[in-house]
Amino acid sequence: MTRTFQRPIKRVVVKLGSSQIADAQMRPKTRELMSLALQIGDLRSKGLEVVLVSSGAIALGMGELGESKRSSDLPFLQARAAIGQAALMRLYSDLLDKVGLKCGQVLLTWDDFDDRSRFLNARHTLEAILKQGVVPIINENDTTSTEEIKFGDNDKLSALVASLLHADLLVILSDVEGVYDGNKKVYQEIKEITAEIDAAAGGTKNVNMSRGGMKAKIEAVKIATQARIPCIITAGNIKDVLVDLVAGKKIGTYFIEKNAQILDGDSEHEFIRSHFRNSKKG
Ligand code: GLU
Repeated sequence: MTRTFQRPIKRVVVKLGSSQIADAQMRPKTRELMSLALQIGDLRSKGLEVVLVSSGAIALGMGELGESKRSSDLPFLQARAAIGQAALMRLYSDLLDKVGLKCGQVLLTWDDFDDRSRFLNARHTLEAILKQGVVPIINENDTTSTEEIKFGDNDKLSALVASLLHADLLVILSDVEGVYDGNKKVYQEIKEITAEIDAAAGGTKNVNMSRGGMKAKIEAVKIATQARIPCIITAGNIKDVLVDLVAGKKIGTYFIEKNAQILDGDSEHEFIRSHFRNSKKG
């Protein structure tokens, strides 16, 4: 049995957390990421557009400096992000080159979504990168923004990017197979994020890596599904995960999009802005 999406999947946003990028010694997971590059090549050859939202800058920056214990000092972490972002892009560029693809770096902050002209500029640039057949690699601009360092590891950013680009699917790759119910079984399909599901989603246990855990992923899914984008949360280390997911194989937890009103222009921008205004309060 396979999944049937409500519309054809042509544009996929894939979010990779820090633990998909680096191991416990903060070394790049080159073998796993090569498999991802091969899958992106496969999807591209089938005519799909793939956008990556990738963390891992801080992790790789720590690795570059021979560190494995995460500091709690924000400027210290921002410096690691600046150092590691170069390593992150080198990694993607080398791996994608092996499958004949180029990539482009896009660093965003939530303020870029807030300001109408910056929001549109980001959309136009990303559309132009995709039109060129190039893979955009998006991360938070950690030099000027600290939202995703403090909480989230880019989960929310991935939902905002998926909304900005009217993606057909958001895939959040993690180190767990999906969202677990009370009996430790993965939910295959979720139509409504109930209080029970909210309560089951905890934070992260890996103090040296990312922030947010399943809780941040569920928050991201709420935004994306409200923007009519289906989402899948699953483990990044499942063989051929991306290719199989897009083909409808029942992997991970699938969140069905809401049948919400189609927004455009100012109302669409207002929808996106409302989400980070809320979290800035919190
Ligand atoms: N944007 C950050 C990164 O890429 C967030 C992840 C973190 O806080 O470690 O490294």
